Amino acid sequence: MTQILVSSCLLGCAVRYNGTDVEVYNSDFDWLVETQEIVPLCPEVAAGLPIPRAPAEISGGNGADILAGAARVIGSEKKDLTDQFLLGAKLALKLCRRHNIRYAVLTENSPSCGSGYIYDGSFSGKKIVGVGVVSALLEKSGIQVFSQHTVGILRELIGSS
Ligand code: SF4
Repeated sequence: MTQILVSSCLLGCAVRYNGTDVEVYNSDFDWLVETQEIVPLCPEVAAGLPIPRAPAEISGGNGADILAGAARVIGSEKKDLTDQFLLGAKLALKLCRRHNIRYAVLTENSPSCGSGYIYDGSFSGKKIVGVGVVSALLEKSGIQVFSQHTVGILRELIGSS
């Protein structure tokens, strides 16, 4: 059994900015939850952000740029939330280290958890290719990040190991 970090909102927890969870329709994800040891986390809530909270997007780049100090996380009310998002990422990495976790399945499109796409910072609904702050830090630290859409690749990896 492999330990996997999973975004809480994929597991039925209503922790998103608007107080909802994320529905997942993917048999590979169901397989993962039923057969592996799941370690749930919402990095934003772990960092002390409330539910509900203002939506936030990365302005000026993606999660890797946040780690480099070259972009900021901005809330829809124009508040700079970069420090809280960085704290959430550090707490996620700490949890992975504590449990010796090598794989994560995180929610696509989130400024924290996105691993393929994020919103572009304009709050217009436009997405760009990029990673969130948590995904950037985990990947940089050697932890492979998948989304609810790419979890089948992880299933193949675990199944063949
Ligand atoms: S996407 Fe990540 S940070 Fe956002 S609610 Fe889900 S677990 Fe929390």
